[in-house]
Amino acid sequence: MTDGAHAATGPGRTPREVATHCPYCALQCGMTLRDESGRATVLPRQFPTNRGGLCQKGWTAAELLDHPERLTTPLLRDPAGGGLRPASWAAALDRIVSGLRAVQSGHGRDAVAVFGGGGLTNEKAYALGKFARVALRTRHIDYNGRFCMSSAAAAGMRAFGIDRGLPFPLADLGRADTLLLVGANPAETMPPLVRWLTEQRERGGRLIVVDPRVTATARQADLHLQPLPGTDLAVANALLHVALTEGWIDRDYVADRTSGFEAVRRAVAGWWPARAEALSGVPVADLEATARALGTAERVIILTARGAEQHAKGVDTVTGFVNLALALGLPGRPGSGYGCLTGQGNGQGGREHGQKADQLPGYRRIDDPAAREHVAGVWGVPADELPGPGVPAYELLDSLGTPAGPKALLVFGSNPVVSAPRAARIEGRLRDLDLLVVADFLLSETAALADVVLPTAQWAEEDGTMTNLEGRVLRRRALRPPPPGVRTDLEILADLTARLRGGAGGADATDPRVVFAELRRASAGGIADYAGVSWERIDERDGVFWPCPAEDGPDTPRLFADRFPTPDGRARFHAVEHRPAAEEVCAEYPLHFTTGRVLAQYQSGTQTRRVAALRRAAPDAFVELHPDLAGRLGIGDGEPVRVVSRRGELRAPARLSTAIRPDTVFAPFHWGGAARANSVTNDAVDPVSGMPEFKICAVRLERVDEP
Ligand code: SF4
Repeated sequence: MTDGAHAATGPGRTPREVATHCPYCALQCGMTLRDESGRATVLPRQFPTNRGGLCQKGWTAAELLDHPERLTTPLLRDPAGGGLRPASWAAALDRIVSGLRAVQSGHGRDAVAVFGGGGLTNEKAYALGKFARVALRTRHIDYNGRFCMSSAAAAGMRAFGIDRGLPFPLADLGRADTLLLVGANPAETMPPLVRWLTEQRERGGRLIVVDPRVTATARQADLHLQPLPGTDLAVANALLHVALTEGWIDRDYVADRTSGFEAVRRAVAGWWPARAEALSGVPVADLEATARALGTAERVIILTARGAEQHAKGVDTVTGFVNLALALGLPGRPGSGYGCLTGQGNGQGGREHGQKADQLPGYRRIDDPAAREHVAGVWGVPADELPGPGVPAYELLDSLGTPAGPKALLVFGSNPVVSAPRAARIEGRLRDLDLLVVADFLLSETAALADVVLPTAQWAEEDGTMTNLEGRVLRRRALRPPPPGVRTDLEILADLTARLRGGAGGADATDPRVVFAELRRASAGGIADYAGVSWERIDERDGVFWPCPAEDGPDTPRLFADRFPTPDGRARFHAVEHRPAAEEVCAEYPLHFTTGRVLAQYQSGTQTRRVAALRRAAPDAFVELHPDLAGRLGIGDGEPVRVVSRRGELRAPARLSTAIRPDTVFAPFHWGGAARANSVTNDAVDPVSGMPEFKICAVRLERVDEP
């Protein structure tokens, strides 16, 4: 069968199998899902990115389908001040619609906001954006992808005129002579990707990792640069300085394919390696060795991830590495280039089709009159009825319930109580709302605060498409229908549209195929052009790479071979200067604090904390600190500690490790409650991308003596 399903099915008969993809990260590993007598299991599947491999999260993903905590009925908060109580769909939807109407009639259309997620399928992301702009007619929509790779997206747009995580297939990593990973730890976040790193080194390539911690990935590297958090841009500028000094710049490429180099040359002239060493702690010899490995190899790939991007200067930091890649003539050269390792499952597609505050489908700008005309035409509404740009995620969340901010919020596929920076403040904002609606399949920390909770289908219960970190559009296939009482996000949006608009228009389609067909028309001619991507075409091969403007034309596995999608076809250098973190250490808060992930948990942990095998592998949060620091503070391994910043504190057991610098402490961000890392993080944001500074703030560390 071309749709990837082996259809023989029925209770007690031949098992049903579907070829699909893991529900979690942006690697979107191929897997086979099998339903045998009502029990779902995961089987390996050969797919070009993961080649049959899965991490522990993928192997155990089916466990949540029948989880005892699964939500199967809407919940309504008792208006008398009680908790959440089961309710009918009619009662829940009526409560939402009357609440939305009351808020909008009292405070205007923008008093309602929508918050989406990077795990939603392309169809849902598109429908959510349309629902906000057409059914609610609010400008306020954004999504948690803003917390993930928005800095790389903004840097890519300003340099290349396009934002696609990897502009080449993942397999290119295996052929790179030099591979530089900056702030990326795929050995823990995307373990099947490590096969490509192994292949690269077996072919004689060099792997260089830039990370403040000695991560599982850094341990495999030929060279590990361990900079102070927040100094990656100084490292990037110093590497380019050395490349210039040594004559490793590709002068022809710079002259023929780029603009703006002279300003960058002047800017990095002052970044001699000793200056970068003084700031970052990376020895001059290591900077020079890295520059040589980059500047003298044939095939070179530079990748950034959250470690470089989640800063108040994240866009400039990524730009520093993009400048380096351009100066070496990498983007568009076979087997070479710059890329970003996207994080969330559909972080790429989720930002292309309308969830971002400033964008319409196809990566169109919402303030572009021609883009508004095109999309309004597809939606059947006058262009002047479409709202203008909203505000980035943190700004939106921080305005909730305030006099000038939205009074009602609808959340789909996100858990900002755990994932937002300065989370206690955001939790307070959510409590101040007149109406909070959360659609989810488990009672996340955010859903627990809601006035209305709507139970939604899971990944294996509905069809759709996802776009992986390579820009490859994939098919997610349903193994079985949702359980009784559960609706899909598309059905929920259609139900709300019908009640708000009396039926016609808005996000009223419940069939994902119909939604995708409309998405194709809406994206046609845009930067992220899906017009030629059909479900059938995806089924015929291992996905389709966007841009793909025509069904009878080619897709685009590799970008930039001849030109960049900028007005003059050239990539653009931007001079960028290192600047300090938004919050520096001081006598009261003398340590750097940084956050990250662990192998067995995913994002805010709503799903993975409920999977038995993952809970056993990573049961609790921890605070990682160097034994020297622990010795100075009298802290033993496993003893409870408190990490305190100007914004709040977290409590968790200490984990002593020489993998971290003695001036820095680390905590994973997958847990809520007292161990919530984002109680501590800084809400300073990048001025271009709106990315919060998750990766560095100033803290003090204390032993907890009381029980
Ligand atoms: S690496 Fe990502 S996509 Fe692959 S199995 Fe693990 S979580 Fe799923």
